[in-house]
Amino acid sequence: MATTLTKDQAQAMLLAIGIDNARTSFSTAVKGFQRGWNLGAALVEDGDCGPKTSAALTKSFARKRKGMPTMSAHFSYTEFLCKCGGKFSDCRRVWTLRTHVRRLEAYRSKIGMPVRVVSGCRCPQWNSSVGGASQSQHKFGAASDIQGVLKVDRMRALGQFAGMGFQRSTGLVVHVDSRDVSGANTTGGRQGAPTTWQYAA
Ligand SMILES: [Zn+2]
Repeated sequence: MATTLTKDQAQAMLLAIGIDNARTSFSTAVKGFQRGWNLGAALVEDGDCGPKTSAALTKSFARKRKGMPTMSAHFSYTEFLCKCGGKFSDCRRVWTLRTHVRRLEAYRSKIGMPVRVVSGCRCPQWNSSVGGASQSQHKFGAASDIQGVLKVDRMRALGQFAGMGFQRSTGLVVHVDSRDVSGANTTGGRQGAPTTWQYAA
């Protein structure tokens, strides 16, 4: 029979895998865990650490202890934490969409090398501080800035992401997003026909 973690146990495990608001905003922390989970069936994002979430969290924690990624085969929650560090009180810390992580895995598999995530989730205040667009997909947990590896034509041909930004100087894609599943797709980008733009730098 599936067991359910106590709140203390769940908080300790969430903190161990780097979800650092587990004590101050337990339900939000659990939701962030549930939302990004890619190492088993999708979890309902209800903020309740029931039997399924308890089993998933126990698995994630066990992987952490073995030095393995905690969220998916190759990615960990900590890579997507909002870089405000929690200084804004309403920051949810990490709320990456499961679908976006799955696409990053597909991208990683295609390029055959690790993907360095430069920026993942951004709370509204942090997004403003770093000059992000008001409808930035980072705010919805649907975007990642990445180290540029593929040029835009090759990234588009992968058919994974619904939004991509590339550097004008190099042509390398340094932002990918899944705006088609973020609930805030103002440009209509989709897999196969992504919204594409260039950065001046
Ligand atoms: Zn933040």
